[in-house]
Amino acid sequence: MTGTPSFAGRRVTVAGLGVSGVSAARALAGLGALVTVVDAGEGERQRARAAELAADGIEVRPGDGDTLPAGTDLVVTSPGWLPDSPLFAAAAAAGVEVVGDVEIAWRLRGENGPPWLAVTGTNGKTTTVRMLAAILTAAGLRTAAVGNIGTPIIDTVLADPPYDVLAVELSSYQLHWAPSVRPHSAAVLNLAPDHLDWHGSMAAYAADKGRVYQGNRVACVYNAADPATEALVREADVVEGCRAVGFTLGPPGLSELGVVDGILVDRAFVPDRRHTAQELAEVSDVRPPAPHNIANALAAAALARAYGVEPRAVRDGLRAFRPDAHRIAHVADVAGGAYVDDSKATNTHAAQASLSAYEPVVWIAGGLAKGATFDELVAGAAGRLRGAVLIGADRHLIAAALARHAPDVPVVDLDRTDTGAMAAAVREASRLAREGDTVLMAPACASMDMFTNYTERGDAFAAAVRDLAREEQ
Ligand code: ADP
Repeated sequence: MTGTPSFAGRRVTVAGLGVSGVSAARALAGLGALVTVVDAGEGERQRARAAELAADGIEVRPGDGDTLPAGTDLVVTSPGWLPDSPLFAAAAAAGVEVVGDVEIAWRLRGENGPPWLAVTGTNGKTTTVRMLAAILTAAGLRTAAVGNIGTPIIDTVLADPPYDVLAVELSSYQLHWAPSVRPHSAAVLNLAPDHLDWHGSMAAYAADKGRVYQGNRVACVYNAADPATEALVREADVVEGCRAVGFTLGPPGLSELGVVDGILVDRAFVPDRRHTAQELAEVSDVRPPAPHNIANALAAAALARAYGVEPRAVRDGLRAFRPDAHRIAHVADVAGGAYVDDSKATNTHAAQASLSAYEPVVWIAGGLAKGATFDELVAGAAGRLRGAVLIGADRHLIAAALARHAPDVPVVDLDRTDTGAMAAAVREASRLAREGDTVLMAPACASMDMFTNYTERGDAFAAAVRDLAREEQ
């Protein structure tokens, strides 16, 4: 759907008092909707938010996230709410539509607003979207990285003056609840099992990811090394003339972006792509130049090129890009070893990517496994491991995989889940590491057994490394 539907007088129920819920509630109330926000919590934070929203004429019902307010004719979800939440079941039973804030953003401006260059995938979304925004900015365009990050997307599409183009990160949850979004072009970076508890099955997860290609006008960008992403392009319902464009870490085939002799090259968006290729940037312009991150850069470049950005801006944007914290961030060198914080590697697919970027590696891993298995990851990394230090609730799963696939690798199993365990882990890792090694904290697990979130886990690692460095001096 495009154009601006009228929300005036509609009874909208917003699920959750989080950042996106508050943004949706305010925007819809501003358009004349009669908004009620429901939230299971009734703590101080909820009460404070409720008081703020009441001033805007928004009713808040803290302490009950399950009951659908009478008369509701649209429900707006928030990230984190399970699809089988009682509120949504009640909406379905009453024939009331449920959508996410991304869908609302699209309905508010749609094709009349700034075009969306969208990114999804199991890993690398935030990094790619930030690279893309840096490239678009380098091209002189007014843009923002939004979606799963940054300013709420509804606020961004309503911004005045309007943006030229948006770099939009879309999670599988957001895509699930955004049936009518039609990006200008989109990329699926990779597809590995994750969040299956939410989606119910791999097929359902993939189908939600595949929605990002729906209605694309210029390019559907896929990962040539991940056939599942290409399969989603084949299944997509796109605008006539929209092209499938692959990215690869090797030399690019026709209609691909790839790498030749340390140079990122484009054989998709060039006039004579059968015979020529356009140089975009050097691998060393990508920070950090780990293989998976070069793939992210190629995907960002493909979307920018689909939008018509000049090669020079791709290079300048990649040079200007700074990775977010806790994503293979180099913390310090101690006693000739490099200490790297990849706390954001919260699943095995992400950990696999960063482990394959270093050799030899002392690996700090463990936490909450979220139902994952570790055999494939450990078998693939076994040859690179100098040693492993395990922490967290599900460390026995990794220990068992190490015993099966890397029996000669020394393993320190720290029987601890307290916050201080990270300092002990760093110390143990430093004992295993030799000069030239990398000590990599890429836990392949979520952090909530020991820390509030992956940020706190990464900070704990960095603090421990800095202590170690001080002692070395
Ligand atoms: P997302 O937004 O999808 O969670 P991020 O850009 O925040 O992705 O990166 C999360 C983690 O995933 C990083 O710490 C890194 O270990 C890993 N990662 C990043 N890009 C890729 C990729 N293209 N393939 C596999 N793993 C990746």
